[in-house]
Amino acid sequence: MSINEKSRAYGAQKSSIREIAAYAGARKAQIGAENVFDFSLGNPSIPAPDSVRASIERCLALPATQLHGYTPASGLPAAREAVAASLSRRFGEGAASADDLYLTCGAAASLSITFHAVVNPGDEVIVIAPYFPEYRVWIETAGATCVEVLADPQTFQIDVAAVEAALTARTKAVVINSPNNPVGSVYSRGNLEALAAVLAKAEARLGTAIYLVADEPYREITYGAEVPWVPSVYDRSIVCYSYSKSLSLPGERIGWVLVPPTNPDHDELVLAVAGAGRKLGFVCAPALFQRVLIDCVDEPSDVEAYARNRQALTEGLARLGYEFIAPEGAFYLWVKALEPDASAFFERAKALELLPVPSDSFGCPGWVRVGYCVSYETIVNSLPAWEELAKSYR
Ligand code: PLP
Repeated sequence: MSINEKSRAYGAQKSSIREIAAYAGARKAQIGAENVFDFSLGNPSIPAPDSVRASIERCLALPATQLHGYTPASGLPAAREAVAASLSRRFGEGAASADDLYLTCGAAASLSITFHAVVNPGDEVIVIAPYFPEYRVWIETAGATCVEVLADPQTFQIDVAAVEAALTARTKAVVINSPNNPVGSVYSRGNLEALAAVLAKAEARLGTAIYLVADEPYREITYGAEVPWVPSVYDRSIVCYSYSKSLSLPGERIGWVLVPPTNPDHDELVLAVAGAGRKLGFVCAPALFQRVLIDCVDEPSDVEAYARNRQALTEGLARLGYEFIAPEGAFYLWVKALEPDASAFFERAKALELLPVPSDSFGCPGWVRVGYCVSYETIVNSLPAWEELAKSYR
C-alpha cells in the first residue's frame, strides 16, 4: 500500500532553518556553545513576562477537570472576548468581537486554517519573496499554487506593480508579513494602500474576490515604525497572529485567526475558518494558554534586548563593510552575501562557526538572514568571525 507521497516529500525535505539549527546544536556539543554563533532559529531570547508565570500559577488553582478540560472548538469565550477587547482598544472601537476570532495553535495553524478556509483546488496564492518558507507547504497542502513575487530589491517593500502583473482570475489571496521575516522590513501605509488599490481594481476587473492575509506574529516587535492595521486599509482581509514572538511563548502554541467585521464575506468566512479548523483537527487551542491570554493580552513586548542586539550587530557589520537592510521590526538582519551564491557564502561562514540562513530558503538569491534573537554576547563575540569572513573575500 502506498503512503501519501507529498507528505513523505515534505518530511524528507526538512526545513533548512531547522537543519542549520540542528547542526549548530551538534557543533556546540563538539566545540563548546560559546564558540558557535548560531543565528539560525527565530526562537525569542528574552523570557516571557513575569505576568505569564503569575497567570499560570493562578490557573493551577482551578479544579483539574476544568483546567485540563476541552474548551469550545474556537476557544473559551472569555479568552476571545479579552483578545477582541484588546484589538478594539488598539485599532478602533469594533475592530473585533469574540465571534470574529478563532484561537489556534500558533500562527502556523492560523495560516493553514486560513488557506483551507479560502482556497479551492487550482487557485493561486501570491507570496512576497523573500518569505517564510512554510507558506509554500501550507498553501500547497490547501490545494493552491504558491506564486512568488519578489519584493522591491532596493527597499524590500511590496513591489505593487509586480503583484499587479501576477494577479490572475485564479488569484484567491495575497499573503503579507509585516514586520517581515526574513528581512525585518515594515510595510508603510502608502505601500499597503497602493497594494489595496491594485487588489480592489483587479477584483472589479476579474469579478473575483481576493483576500489579503496579514501574517503578524512580529506586530509588536518594532523599533519605532508604524505597523498599519491591515483591515483598516483593505476590507477583504484576514489577520493571522500568535503570541510566539510578542510574549516569547513559541512552544506553547497559542494564536488566533481574525475575520474582521468589515470583511464583506464575514459570516461565510467565519464558518469556513471553523470548518477548516475542524477539517485539520485544529480545534481547541491549548486551554491553559487560552486562560493566560485573559490575563496577559495587553502585556507589552520587551523589545529592549532586541534593540540593543540590533544596534550592536548593525554597527559591527557596517564597520566591516557589509551591506544590509536596516531592520524596522522583527529580529532578523538581511545581509547581502559577499558573492552571488548565498549557499557558497554560507559555507564559508560556517567554516568560521557563523551560522546565518542562506536566502535561497526564502525564495530570493544573494543574501543571508541573521537572527539576532540571541544573547548580546553572541553578537559581540561573533564580530571577529564576520571580519575574517569579509577579509576572505578581499
Ligand atoms: N509566520 C512567520 C513570518 C514566522 O516567522 C513564524 C515563525 O517563526 C510563523 C508564521 C509561525 O509562527 P508560530 O510559531 O506561532 O506558529
